[in-house]
Amino acid sequence: MRTIIEQGHTFEEWLTPEQIAKDVTELANRINADYAGREPLFVVVLNGAFIFAADLIRRVNLHCETTFIRVSSYWGMATTGKLEFIVPLQQVVEGRDVIIVEDIVDSGLTIHQLKAHLRAEGAQSVSVASMLFKPNKLEYNDAKPDYVGREITNEFVIGYGLDFDGFARNLDSIYKVKE
Ligand code: 5GP
Repeated sequence: MRTIIEQGHTFEEWLTPEQIAKDVTELANRINADYAGREPLFVVVLNGAFIFAADLIRRVNLHCETTFIRVSSYWGMATTGKLEFIVPLQQVVEGRDVIIVEDIVDSGLTIHQLKAHLRAEGAQSVSVASMLFKPNKLEYNDAKPDYVGREITNEFVIGYGLDFDGFARNLDSIYKVKE
């Protein structure tokens, strides 16, 4: 088992690059089937989803668009419960089938607020693709992702785009904090 130290905490490898690739391929295949004949707009939530989004979107065989949004609701290992739009949506979403691309859904606050925002902007449909999902921590039922790579219990994870105070996004595996 590969172990690393980040910010003084020990992390153990949980998903290898091969396992991640398999999950992302399955997820993309479901999107390809569900959205066949449509032109979805992927709204990628920066920063954490950038690596997942790059892998996912390259496996999508639909005629589609991609745009980016940046919000902030999380620092270190504790959520602040407040969402701030740092890079607002720059694409017209009215009448579009939007697929939000997230790294991980935890309390669901980010997705809950984003969905409300996209609906208010007139999106025809809004679904969520998230690499990871912590079902036990979900506080907003409408934030349950439609497409999930892997479910996870409550542990803090890093790597594959997920950071610890800005670091560790570059790791090609996903690591779980060791108790
Ligand atoms: P939520 O709004 O669902 O509570 O939190 C979602 C955001 O919190 C994610 O996009 C991610 O930035 C951050 N987050 C939640 N859980 C984790 C985790 O285990 N590791 C990391 N690195 N970020 C997390």
